Amino acid sequence: MHASVGILTERGGMTSHAALVARGWGKCCIVGCDALKIDFNAKKVSFGGKVTLKEGDAISLNGAKGLVYAGAIETMDASENPLFAKFMGLCDKFRKLGIRTNADTPEDAARALKFGAEGIGLFRIEHMFYGKNSDTPLSKLRKMILCNTEQERKAALAELEPYMKAAVKETLRIMDGKPVVFRLLDPPLHEFVPKTEDKKKEIASDLGISVKEIEKRGESLHEVNPMMGHRGVRLHVSYPLIAETQYRAIFTATAELQKEGLRPMPEIMIPVTISARELSFQRAICDKIKAEVEATTQQFLEYKFGTMIEIPRAALTADRMARAAEFFSFGTNDLTQMTFGFSRDDVGTFMGDYLGNKILDGDPFQTIDVKAVGKLVKIGVDGGRSRRPDLMCGICGEHGGDPKSIEFFNTIGINYVSCSPFRVPIARLAAAQAEIRQAK
Ligand code: PEP
Ligand code: MG
Repeated sequence: MHASVGILTERGGMTSHAALVARGWGKCCIVGCDALKIDFNAKKVSFGGKVTLKEGDAISLNGAKGLVYAGAIETMDASENPLFAKFMGLCDKFRKLGIRTNADTPEDAARALKFGAEGIGLFRIEHMFYGKNSDTPLSKLRKMILCNTEQERKAALAELEPYMKAAVKETLRIMDGKPVVFRLLDPPLHEFVPKTEDKKKEIASDLGISVKEIEKRGESLHEVNPMMGHRGVRLHVSYPLIAETQYRAIFTATAELQKEGLRPMPEIMIPVTISARELSFQRAICDKIKAEVEATTQQFLEYKFGTMIEIPRAALTADRMARAAEFFSFGTNDLTQMTFGFSRDDVGTFMGDYLGNKILDGDPFQTIDVKAVGKLVKIGVDGGRSRRPDLMCGICGEHGGDPKSIEFFNTIGINYVSCSPFRVPIARLAAAQAEIRQAK
């Protein structure tokens, strides 16, 4: 018997960033479950004064629904279940939407393939600077950020490039014959400035300057509103050398794999864009580097050049954006942030009040707000295709793995959704259900 001992309140639902991150790792997580009363001293948990659990008692969680069950519910790894594989195959027969994955490491890419991903819709280059094995590339990036002259920056980028190439190459190798969208560095540089004394000392000694000078240079990058600041394509307009390094890493990895007889399919994507001119500016740099790599490797290289559509201006001027972009990928996280004017990082402090008072029907960062954000996506798709009828349009924000949002995307001509590896099976099912419903 599995007594349901707690149902998560809306306040603690999927508005939690921690829950989203956990989902990306394939971990079940429920945050802010105020139905559970936790007595830390007594190491006990009670629900409604009726059910009490003590330390060591088993519970089971349904993270998607926010349910907590007493006892250990028997589960099995779905990927080992032949019925599951058969069912997924059935879904694939019905769906029209493509399903890609957001994967930032070769490990994620391999996992997503097992779940049936048909390519990578978003490889965030900056993820090589977070988490496992990031120490060395991160220290090289920091050196590049905190140096003062173009010569120093070039040298630091040259040290960084092999790490970038290795991450790109392994991912392309795993995804052989399938498209992989590499998105250029997105976060503001200040995010990477060293915070601890030992790291500041390390960079200072590398650059031959004082820790005080490192602090001064770091502070100069501080922004009051970094999410609307010097990030995404804006960095690559100010520092074309940073863009060049990424293009070179991608093209060199591609050429090397081609020489091995593989069929890498890189797609290069520019983030946080607002104008076709930004794209033309980048495309010129990208094609220059491609020609250089082709000359040195004697390989003919093919790639697609595209843009995120994640700022309302880009969606509203999509016909122009499509002049310079061969594909669009809608960054619905930022598009939601910019359309509502809700900070993605701070919205948790008041979203519960909006949901509790029924001002919003649901969390727009979870399920697409059809009335405004969805409308912008549709305007973007239609506008882009008015200029380029075969324009490939994907979704790479969190909404790409949300069934209700998938249903909407299916109605407006989106070609594929991209979601975290663990949501790929859900997306395959949701896409099939959406198609069947739409046909009716
Ligand atoms: C987005 O904005 O929807 C997106 C996918 O990019 P990021 O989450 O990295 O800003
Ligand atoms: Mg974004």
